[in-house]
Amino acid sequence: MIETGSIEKIAYDITELRSRFPILGREVNGYPLVYLDNAATTQKPSSVIDSLSAYYKGYNSNIHRGVHTLANEATEAFEKTRKSASEFINAGEKEVVITKGTTEGINLIARTWGEANIKEGDRILVGAAEHHSNIVPWQILAEKVGAAVEPIPLSQEGILDREAFKSMLDESVRLVAINFISNSLGTINPINDLISDAHHNGSIVLVDAAQAAPHIEIDVKAIDCDFLAFSGHKMFGPTGVGFLYGKYDLLDQMPPFIGGGEMIDQVSFNGTSFLTPPLKFEAGTPNIADVIAMDQAFGFVSDIGFDAINKAEKEIVDYSRSRMSKIQGLKEYGTAEEKIAVFSFNLEGIHPFDVGQLLDAKGIAVRTGHHCTMPMMSDLGIEGTVRASFAVYNSMEETEKLWDNVERIQKKYGSS
Ligand code: PMP
Repeated sequence: MIETGSIEKIAYDITELRSRFPILGREVNGYPLVYLDNAATTQKPSSVIDSLSAYYKGYNSNIHRGVHTLANEATEAFEKTRKSASEFINAGEKEVVITKGTTEGINLIARTWGEANIKEGDRILVGAAEHHSNIVPWQILAEKVGAAVEPIPLSQEGILDREAFKSMLDESVRLVAINFISNSLGTINPINDLISDAHHNGSIVLVDAAQAAPHIEIDVKAIDCDFLAFSGHKMFGPTGVGFLYGKYDLLDQMPPFIGGGEMIDQVSFNGTSFLTPPLKFEAGTPNIADVIAMDQAFGFVSDIGFDAINKAEKEIVDYSRSRMSKIQGLKEYGTAEEKIAVFSFNLEGIHPFDVGQLLDAKGIAVRTGHHCTMPMMSDLGIEGTVRASFAVYNSMEETEKLWDNVERIQKKYGSS
């Protein structure tokens, strides 16, 4: 048993909190589900699920431009989510574009700000541990305009190497695109320092906050990023909803992304004018129900609060590190002091897929593979890792179960 105080006592009532997530009550392969694939997507509380059906049952209607009651109710609920999103990251409401997710947000910037501002010979610096969605859009852009995409190396511990980064900066660097937290390693980048270095150099900074949103407080004004993207489904909300922050002046100068309804002011065959941000970037009927339900997810996280989330998470990190250090042949990737409860590791002599399947046989869901960070895996000289990623509803008992099973698998199938 764990000797230190339990999360339950320190941070919040985890039994009550878990009861809000219906899926956590199910069994997998005859065992209670231990869901540790939260970096891929989190489970949803009843409040989010209920909000989806409340919309469809009670006020399903297209938003904006409507005069009837249902349209007004739907518009109000939709815009309430934008307000909550802006409060969540300390942005202005006009600075938050509603997207399908982080990937769409990054592509939007590449196709609009990027195409208008990145020229032949320019360099785009991206972290070596970026998710493919923060690499590929820049490669597509670079190919189009004749720019270059270059990786910022990582330190041994798996955070961006600030000195190496500074040495790469010169006037050709127009954009720096980096994650706040690595999805493969769980390490937290020194985002304030990196942004300040980039700004000092005159570069624009985009932050991929997909993994940060459910784990640490994001204050776009304090970190002073130019753009920031995150996804709802990684923070207890529905899939198909995301948010893109941009400083208003930048959004205002950007050309539109996709054209269509919702984003225009006047349309004629002599020329068309567009709305101001954020609607300028929101053509077409959006994912209304999911956006509305996302408001419940913001409420869920805000009610718990990041102090409590961080406290609980630290306990899981400390305990897990002490367990990992005692498992023979376990190699942990991402050893920085500043990290969230995402553990990437391999066991000597066992393929990560096999570890994943053996854990699944006991009801423990983890992800295995390259986690959409192939360049980093290739730098590490490995095909992939086993990744256990935690969320607020994961208990110490589940943490113990994970490491007990990893230890058992290592003893039975490992080579050391
Ligand atoms: N960036 C990071 C760091 C991620 O972890 C992910 C999702 N795994 C993404 C971007 C892409 O997010 P989405 O698929 O929700 O667009």
